[in-house]
Amino acid sequence: MGIGQTGAGHVKTEPCFHDVAGWKEEQMEKTRITVAHGDGIGPEIMAATLRILAAADARLELENIEVGKAIYERGFTSGIAPDAWESIHRTGVLLKGPITTPQGGGYKSLNVTLRKSLGLYANVRPCVAYAPFVKTRHPKMDVVIIRENEEDLYGGIEHRQTDECVQCLKLITRPGCERIARFAFEYARAHDRKAVTTFTKDNIMKMTDGLFHKVVDEVALQYTDIKSSHMIIDIGAARLADTPEQFDMVLTSNLYGDIVSDIAAQVAGSVGLAPSANIGASGAMFEAIHGSAPDIAGKDIANPGGLLLAAVMMLVHVGQPDVAAKIQNAWLRTIEDGIHTGDIYVDGQSAELVGTTAFADAVISRLGQLPEVLTPVAYAAVNNPAKLAHMVREERAPALPKELVGVDVFFHWRGDKPATLAQHLQLTDGDGLRLTMISNRGLTVWPNAASDAFLADHWRCRFEASTPTGRVTHQQIIRLLSRVADAGYDFIKTENLCTFDGIPGYAMGQGQ
Ligand code: NAD
Repeated sequence: MGIGQTGAGHVKTEPCFHDVAGWKEEQMEKTRITVAHGDGIGPEIMAATLRILAAADARLELENIEVGKAIYERGFTSGIAPDAWESIHRTGVLLKGPITTPQGGGYKSLNVTLRKSLGLYANVRPCVAYAPFVKTRHPKMDVVIIRENEEDLYGGIEHRQTDECVQCLKLITRPGCERIARFAFEYARAHDRKAVTTFTKDNIMKMTDGLFHKVVDEVALQYTDIKSSHMIIDIGAARLADTPEQFDMVLTSNLYGDIVSDIAAQVAGSVGLAPSANIGASGAMFEAIHGSAPDIAGKDIANPGGLLLAAVMMLVHVGQPDVAAKIQNAWLRTIEDGIHTGDIYVDGQSAELVGTTAFADAVISRLGQLPEVLTPVAYAAVNNPAKLAHMVREERAPALPKELVGVDVFFHWRGDKPATLAQHLQLTDGDGLRLTMISNRGLTVWPNAASDAFLADHWRCRFEASTPTGRVTHQQIIRLLSRVADAGYDFIKTENLCTFDGIPGYAMGQGQ
């Protein structure tokens, strides 16, 4: 078998792996997957991984695609060409090497694009210590991080608002929270895990992180066999770095999950060892958590472990748990025998320092063997994360009675006296709306301002209903905007103030 590089942006189907005479029909059935070799160390660790998969008789048929640097340079700002998309949609499974995202504006992160376009809402990152064979201060660590993969600050909705102020929108949805929460608890059950700890910052972001926390608590009531707890992300991350053996599973939103999973992987031993699965109802992508490591590219010294373990997760996903276990056990035995790449090699403790190719050879020569000290793995089809993704069905709650009760109007204004701004804006009061509060960077500065805080050129002015019903109409808001524009004020955006079933759907100003 040989796995050749494909032409730029082209897809090449390559029959691969062994045809062993005498196998039963269903055993011979191969799963088609898409393979992207990636940039930097990507091609080296992918070649090593594919060689091991082939030697283990993985029943796979590969479609090679090209993504990343070369495609960016060819003018595709998302790092992927249309025919590569077709392959991924056809196979529904992508094994991906790390890619180099060009610095600077105009380029979109391919990883974010793939996750969002394919609806891969769950990111599963097991972080396991392999002590005493891989150096770690936490020999008992065995944590799975479940990271929500589509929402939060990763929407890429950013705007420059004024000379001094830029903004990034953090979007959290109830169905999004429900899906990832159910996935986490189903994963816990399927993998015999006992406890899920949720990390949020809902003491500050009461609405967005508050919703995530609330929905997890609701979902947890249906999984009373799994212990559910919550930590504020700052102390949670500190504890995860300090005493990771206290954690079984961690569930969190997109940005926090990105950060804490790298911390957890490094604390376990090496970022070079950690795999990641991105799972959705109709597709999945498997990759190492590390990047393209340009500093060591082309030297045949990278650790292929993260990508290999991602391929093991992929084999479970496509219904080949037997091959998955065979490979992981041979890998564990190799690690145990002290055959180590430079990132985990310790002089006097490891037996042999090897490069990427020699490491793959060592794993291949141990296929069929079990580790003697580390615990051997065994997978069942029930572990299949794809099945979990299908089982997870979020229910959409009925729409609540909603009332419009005011509007926050944001202004670009260079002044530094909130009272002056208030005085002028109060001239536009009337028609059922009146100015009730002004804040600057979230801090209430009118009325009752008493602060030495720096005042930026970005002002939020709250207008609330002065009508007997306490409600206003869209037309009243449009007329208000017309009046403030006529008064010469540069409004840059608005946020409607609504109640949902009588409960305000907006935060108070700090200090209000
Ligand atoms: P990196 O993970 O590539 O490297 C960080 C450090 O870890 C480097 O010293 C590197 O040599 C080492 N390292 C990483 N993988 C290793 C391995 N398998 N074996 C041995 N050592 C390894 O992070 P970076 O340097 O911040 O990023 C480099 C590029 O990768 C950037 O362009 C970034 O955007 C990209 N990136 C891609 C992905 C992805 O494709 N999923 C993820 C992260 C970063």
